[in-house]
Amino acid sequence: MTTPRIAFDLKPTGQPLPEEERAAVLANPGFGRRFTDHMVTIRWSEGRGWHDAQLEPYAPLQIDPANMTLHYAQSIFEGLKAYRQADGGVAAFRPEENARRFQRSARRLAMPELPVETFVEAIDLLVRQDEAWVPGEGEQSLYLRPFMFATEVGLGVRPANEYLFMVIASPAGAYFPRGVEPVSVWLSEEYVRAAPGGTGEAKCAGNYAASLVAQAEAAEHGCEQVVWLDAVEHRWVEEMGGMNLYFVYGEEGPDGTGRENVRIVTPELTGTLLPGITRLSLLRIAEDLGYATGEVRLSTEDWRRGNEDGSISEVFACGTAAVITPVGHVKSARAAWTVGDGGTGPITLRLRETLLAIQTGRAPDTHGWMHRI
Ligand code: PMP
Repeated sequence: MTTPRIAFDLKPTGQPLPEEERAAVLANPGFGRRFTDHMVTIRWSEGRGWHDAQLEPYAPLQIDPANMTLHYAQSIFEGLKAYRQADGGVAAFRPEENARRFQRSARRLAMPELPVETFVEAIDLLVRQDEAWVPGEGEQSLYLRPFMFATEVGLGVRPANEYLFMVIASPAGAYFPRGVEPVSVWLSEEYVRAAPGGTGEAKCAGNYAASLVAQAEAAEHGCEQVVWLDAVEHRWVEEMGGMNLYFVYGEEGPDGTGRENVRIVTPELTGTLLPGITRLSLLRIAEDLGYATGEVRLSTEDWRRGNEDGSISEVFACGTAAVITPVGHVKSARAAWTVGDGGTGPITLRLRETLLAIQTGRAPDTHGWMHRI
């Protein structure tokens, strides 16, 4: 069955931000602070399905105090980027993958599933309308935030019968303006992010609310990021804050020879970690570059021993926001150690550069990942 295409009502603003003010924002975009001139909204209600699709001026919403989301958190979101391409055009990185993950998140939270093509069309419309907001320097991008929440008013605990899907966009600067810098991580043995049967593989707002106290604990121990362990044994490494983790076993020669000695692994998808699209893409890129890859169970003991005996040469985290972030130092309640020499490893940098070159159109898109807008 093909879903009927939804028709968007286009209502562009008569008052876009003046060009010089936009230029000032793009000169120093930061992250998630300023938003483009427009947003997309689509409503869903029981019996009617998806309706009232609009591209409209970016504006605050009015929320009833008894809005069900405020009380029971039926709220999911996505994050993806559109990059200015080497030829001046704009392309989004794997939006269909985000659309599919959004559907899975919706299913887990008992919310309606937006068709993949509608999700992608909403992004196309917004980016096309606000194309002037897509920055073009180096690693800069337009960060896209699709999200959906319940709009029904009432305090009964059950799936709502009305929802609002939206997309907003925000220019994003280079994550590492002064060059790639390794982060220090805290292994959270007290707090857990997700338990088996819970919502760990869904991108729902509540997961992030629940993570904040552990992030604060990491900061109290002088670490920048928290690493989550499994909820049952507090032993298996799952992911880091808002990023997935990778471990590099072995080393290659200084000229990139000896890649057959290297194996790059990431924790397997157990249902309690978020299946990252960067994680998925790096499995392919690592193979393209001639490295062996694997999805594994890795304990905190494996990690510590691997760094101490030198078998693990590099560790990095990956996600849409930073693409790849090296991990330099690890701390827990009982131990502290350094990854390699605490700096950024050559394989981490090569993978980062290879992925960014594809995303910005400086390297051929051999996997068909870039969606031209
Ligand atoms: N884990 C978590 C908890 C995240 O929030 C994210 C960011 N979406 C990731 C991993 C990385 O996912 P992606 O590569 O799709 O950005």
